[in-house]
Amino acid sequence: GSTIGIIGGGQLGRMLAMAAARLGYRTVILEPQAACPAAQVANRQITAAYDDAAALAELAAASAVVTYEFENVPVAAASALAAKVTVYPPPRALEVAQDRVAEKQFLNGIGIKTADFRTVDNDDELTAALREFSGSGILKTRRMGYDGKGQRVFRNMETGGFAGTCEAMGNVPLILESFVAFEREVSVIAARGLDGAVAAYDPAENIHRDGILHTSTLPAAIRLETAAAAQAAAAKILSALDYVGVIGVEFFVLADGSLLANEIAPRVHNSGHWTEAACVVSQFEQHIRAIAGLPLGNPGRHSNCVMENLIGDDVLRVPALLAEPDLMLHLYGKAEARPGRKMGHFTRISRRG
Ligand code: ATP
Ligand code: MG
Ligand code: MG
Repeated sequence: GSTIGIIGGGQLGRMLAMAAARLGYRTVILEPQAACPAAQVANRQITAAYDDAAALAELAAASAVVTYEFENVPVAAASALAAKVTVYPPPRALEVAQDRVAEKQFLNGIGIKTADFRTVDNDDELTAALREFSGSGILKTRRMGYDGKGQRVFRNMETGGFAGTCEAMGNVPLILESFVAFEREVSVIAARGLDGAVAAYDPAENIHRDGILHTSTLPAAIRLETAAAAQAAAAKILSALDYVGVIGVEFFVLADGSLLANEIAPRVHNSGHWTEAACVVSQFEQHIRAIAGLPLGNPGRHSNCVMENLIGDDVLRVPALLAEPDLMLHLYGKAEARPGRKMGHFTRISRRG
């Protein structure tokens, strides 16, 4: 069989490598950290920085197709790679997903609504933007934020006296988003094949704790037409990006059932981990199928389920979890359980009601 290259060696890379192996592919990962979760599963590791030119050339030479497991792959590296080997999803998807402003402009440009936003590059602009949003909003770094890092919430505060805020945020380009009083949050995991076929999984309802995904529940407590609208928006995003592979799209659901897109992740997504337990074809297999030019699998769900992340010391629950029937456990092989670190997840299955 041929070899699939994966940039990034975290748990998502590990799960992609597992799915690739099951379909008969070999994998080579590019990851600077020697002891990474994917190293235990991949056939080979190129241990170098993500933008190391020699390492990228080696990856290109070894792979029939290259993909990635995180959205902060340097766009220049991905584009240079794409000149030598097929790269899926397309580097354009990285470009859009890496900058919260570019992301919202892209979404709004294809008719998908988001929270209102303003770019913020200094404290005066923050003051002006907060005034426009009546004192409430979420200030975020435009780039590199994840798990709620690089964010500051303003709620019903005086619109002034914010000297030093931008410096405290690291003096990087910022975005102020209006505060969305959402009723719930859902995400859609969807895939687009080489032939343009799209397969969308059912929306998951997501609950975050300390900025990190805590649980994903299926089905989400939303109307059928809301679910269909979320899936249609994901399909629109995939087509607009001429995408190949799996994408995750996060939404806010408002009280009237309407949707605002929050962000997109051009990769397999934590809120799609439930698919390995409740679907015949998981998001990981679906991604490998898509980038390898195979037909997409059925995204249908055979069970209801709740996926929960194991963060830090949560791994101490493993013995008790193993004693439960109808529970699928997935550990990432990380030796040290640091606070906030994703160590694994589990999915509790129940019969479809
Ligand atoms: P991820 O780990 O999902 O990539 P992130 O760090 O990129 O997270 P966001 O998804 O932008 O951050 O925000 C994290 C959470 O903060 C959201 O899931 C939501 O609960 C809340 N949030 C973000 N933006 C807004 C907003 N404009 N209004 C209200 N709540 C928000
Ligand atoms: Mg994000
Ligand atoms: Mg998010």
